[in-house]
Parts: sequence; structure tokens; C-alpha cells
Amino acid sequence: CGLVTDDPILYRARVAPDRQALFEIASGRQLTYKELNARIARCTGLLGDMLGTRRDGARVAMLARNSVDSIVLAFACQRAGAIYVPLNWRLNAAELRPILADCAPALLVHDEEFSVAVASLADVDPEMAVISTADGPAGLAARIEANSPAEPVSCDAERACVLLYTSGTTGQPKGVVITRGNTFFAAVNFSFVGEIGPGSVALCDLPFFHTIGLIAVARTTLMLGGTLVVSDRFTPARTLAALADRKQRITHYFAVPQIALALRNDPAYSAADLSGLHALFVGGAPLTQALIESYLEDGVALVNGYGMSEAGTVLHVPIDRGAVRDNPGSVGLPAPLLDIRIVGEDGREVDEGEIGELWLRGPAVSPGYWNRPAETAAAFTEGWYRTGDLGRREANGFYRIVDRLKDMYISGGENVYPAEVEAVLASHSDVLDAAVVGIPDMKWGECGLAYVVLRPGAVPTAEAIAGHCAAKLAAFKRPAHILFVKTIPRTASGKVQKHVLRQLHSDELFNDRPDE
Ligand code: ATP
Ligand code: MG
Repeated sequence: CGLVTDDPILYRARVAPDRQALFEIASGRQLTYKELNARIARCTGLLGDMLGTRRDGARVAMLARNSVDSIVLAFACQRAGAIYVPLNWRLNAAELRPILADCAPALLVHDEEFSVAVASLADVDPEMAVISTADGPAGLAARIEANSPAEPVSCDAERACVLLYTSGTTGQPKGVVITRGNTFFAAVNFSFVGEIGPGSVALCDLPFFHTIGLIAVARTTLMLGGTLVVSDRFTPARTLAALADRKQRITHYFAVPQIALALRNDPAYSAADLSGLHALFVGGAPLTQALIESYLEDGVALVNGYGMSEAGTVLHVPIDRGAVRDNPGSVGLPAPLLDIRIVGEDGREVDEGEIGELWLRGPAVSPGYWNRPAETAAAFTEGWYRTGDLGRREANGFYRIVDRLKDMYISGGENVYPAEVEAVLASHSDVLDAAVVGIPDMKWGECGLAYVVLRPGAVPTAEAIAGHCAAKLAAFKRPAHILFVKTIPRTASGKVQKHVLRQLHSDELFNDRPDE
């Protein structure tokens, strides 16, 4: 769009220098906008010194828990013309290796707790500089403080400033290129969605390596002049204490479904006063209706939101208890700066109520994947991003996510959406977790295989589970096979890895085959 996006911290430091920008729970440290701006300026100087003439477009990776300095480094990268790459610290060294090889960072900043992984990855690029966040003269904080401030380089909105790796739910994580314009417009979108403003106090214990943490919560709150409360880990007790703390007055909290569930199941939940919360945002994966209703009963507006690394926040239920109550299972309405289409197999928009793939367009949508021309060409066509998610629009304009396109299977000519079957399985009182995949079937082409995790102590049979499904699902949707397992493979962000389950199934088939 040709627009030169300014740095929101620079702006806030001019107009409201003494307002509190950050609070770090682990250290109790607080920074005003003036202090944050000064620290970013010094960190920009550090990047200039370290990267020199190579800094333009250089990747600066960070393998660290949420901290004030993760935010400082992210904005300093933008000011230096470099690209910030927050890495998923829940991944092991073998999982990080292809990501590091892909983005080839000039500098890697890491927490001490990940130093063993970092040492084992040094051979990926012997030129890569490494800095630890540990205290001491060689640590990141000391080096920022010792540096002189540097001015931002001016660049336009099309310039990449963040590389965000996807969760890897459907395969290898892909590096999503986020431009300066993307971050700005994604934050504008989220400011509407979250009703965020200068008085907002947002708690972020979701890691900054996902769009929801770095772009939605952190960036939006700081852009709008609110206060960001940074937490380096989620524990139900810590989050509940922070949410109920009258001094901190947290107004916004964002969670993935598994965290929202863990919070509500914690013994401290019933005593925690959550009345200061404007809304509890939950997104990133399908949400059970039971969870939404349980929060509603407690007077907490749990708002379902749908988004992804490639576009930020896309759909959300309005913050209104009535809207939440009246639209069960819905992901709501589009964010303001987005065009949404639901497209059928023939490439044409489907009618209201019909299922198709969600396509998105708008200034928050990424231009494509790092180093992946074929995948970029396949997913980003004529200005539209094809999400790979199936959904439909209802008469009142609200949207529903049905499932991922890759996970849908066809049984006897009928489309089956595993997410629907999983929701039925999850509604059985003895079922703790469930995942369904389509597998080849001689008679029906494909049929459903359900992996079920039982609650501790529960002993129902496959027949009992099948009976429950039979009472709630049409015959073609019922899983033909039910397998009880201890756990279901998930990504680091808690999403079920269907490709792993499908692989598991075909490996088993292969192993069962008698030797020829
Ligand atoms: P990969 O692209 O590597 O397979 P991923 O798609 O899980 O991984 P993310 O960008 O972190 O990586 O996640 C976005 C996806 O999460 C969406 O495309 C959608 O499938 C799913 N999702 C997000 N929010 C919701 C929601 N509220 N309800 C259902 N699904 C959701
Ligand atoms: Mg994806």
C-alpha cells in the first residue's frame, strides 16, 4: 500500500512518555513508554554494531520465554531493518534444526535454559552469532544497556519485519513472512476485535512465537497505549492470581482452549474474582460448547476467535454475552480490515449455509512463505490467501469453522468432518480427549478411525462409545473403528497432529502384514 508505517512505541513515547507500557511478572520490572523506547533505541544500536552492513533483512532469531527484552528485540529488529524470528521453545533441537536452517539467522538470542539445544545446533551455521539472556556483561541486557541509541532506518510497509513459523499441525512448520504493514493492520484488526485502548491492561502468558502473543496481544496493546503484563509461563495458579489481582486490574486475557480448560479445572478457580475481565479470548483450535457455557454461567464473556499466522485475527464473536450465548460453536464475524470468501471445489463462492474453503484478503494478510515458492503459489493466489480451513456463513452473517480441508474424508460419497465427530465423542462423560482421522476402507472408500483417551478410572467399552455416537450421528459419520490410547499427539500449541495419527495407522498396517 506504499504507506510508511511508523513505530508505535516511538509515537507513544512522544505523546504519553510516562504511561506504563510493560510489567514483567517474573522480575516485577516496569517500563514506561519513554523507558521502553530508550531501551529499543539502544538495542537497535546493538544490532547495528553486531550486524553492520549485513543487518538489512538479516534474521535475528530468539529462543526465549516471554520477557520485556523479547519485546525490545522485536521492535529493535524493525528499527534496524532486520527480521525478528521468535522460535518455539517447546520444540526439541531436532525439530528446531530445519527451522534454523530455513531462516539462517545472523544472530540467535536464547535463554540459558535452552543453551544445550543451542550448542547442539551451532553447526547449522558456524557464522551465526549467539547471545544469551543470562545476567552478566556478555548477556543481552548488559549489552543493550552498554550501547548507544540508534535511529530507526526508514522503510516502507512492504518490508518484512517478522518471520513467524506456523504450528506445524499439518506438516513441517512454514515461515510466514510478516511485513511492517501486516503487523500494523493486524494490530488494527485486533484492536477492534478486543476493544483495546489506552486503558487496557493485557496479560500475555501465551508465547510470543505465535501470532496471538506477539502481534495480537503484545503489539496491539502497545500500539494503542495500554499496558502489557508479560508472563514467562502459564500455570493456572499464577494466571488466576494475576487475573484476580485488584492492583494490576487486568482487563484482557487470551488463551488457547486447553489453557481455558485448565484454568477452569483448577481448585483456585472458584475463589478467583474475574469480574475485572472485559473478556476472555479463546482461539487457535476448536472449542467445546461445554467450556463456553461453563464460563458464561460464571459471568465471564468467553469469546471464541479464529485466526492464523498468515493473517492474524480473522473472525471473532462480539464481546457481548448475548452474542456468545446465542451463537454456540460460532467463530463470529470478520475483523474490519478483511475480505472473506467461502469457495467451493469449483473455485466459485458457495451459497449461504454451504460449506467451502475460507479465502482471505486484506492488508494484514502475509505475502507468503519464506523460501517456499511452490507452497506460496499454492496458498496465495490473486491476492487471496486460501486458509485450508472449511467453514460456512450463516444467515445472520456469523461464521462457523467446520474442519481443516486436509482432515475431511469421504465415506460412501458423503463428506465427514472429523471435528463434528470429535465433539460428539468429547461429550461422553468418560472421554477425556478424542481425535478422528479418515482411513482407507474397502467398502466405503474411507471410514473413520477414532482415537479415544478415557478419563482416569473410566472403563467403558468400544461398544458403549459406539452406542453414544449412534445416538447422535448419522451412520456414515460414525467411526468404524475405535482405539483407546493414552495420549493423542499434539503440536507444541496443543493442536492435534492428524498427519501423525494417519502415519501411525499406516505404519501399524504395514507392521501387521505377515512377512512375504
Ligand atoms: P500448519 O499451518 O503448520 O499446519 P497451523 O495451521 O496449526 O499449522 P497456526 O497458524 O498456528 O498453524 O494455526 C492456524 C490454524 O488454527 C487455522 O488455520 C485453523 O485451522 C486453526 N484455528 C485457529 N483458531 C481456531 C478456532 N477458533 N476454531 C477452530 N480452529 C481454529
Ligand atoms: Mg496453517
